[in-house]
Amino acid sequence: MSGIDQYDTVRHFWCPQLGQTINFAYCRKVQGGLPCTRVLTCFAPHFDVAAFIDEHYTPQERDSFLAPAQGRVERVLDTLDRVRQGREEEK
Ligand code: SF4
Repeated sequence: MSGIDQYDTVRHFWCPQLGQTINFAYCRKVQGGLPCTRVLTCFAPHFDVAAFIDEHYTPQERDSFLAPAQGRVERVLDTLDRVRQGREEEK
């Protein structure tokens, strides 16, 4: 087994969420200590990230962080729903 930090200095050229270059050290911990949902897509060109994930995370952990993230539109709609609910409760 290799160290979990062995690829921490590998840099992805453009993070679509942050709008900048980013090191794998950030990406592998960004969801409460677990990797980003997009980690397989972003880091596949850099190293065998699928093997890394298989080696270091349990099937349950993999299921949790590889589940599709909520899209931007869904997040906006959820926020609007919460605001709308808050206004209706104020009436
Ligand atoms: S894995 Fe996530 S945090 Fe890292 S570069 Fe890709 S989108 Fe950004």
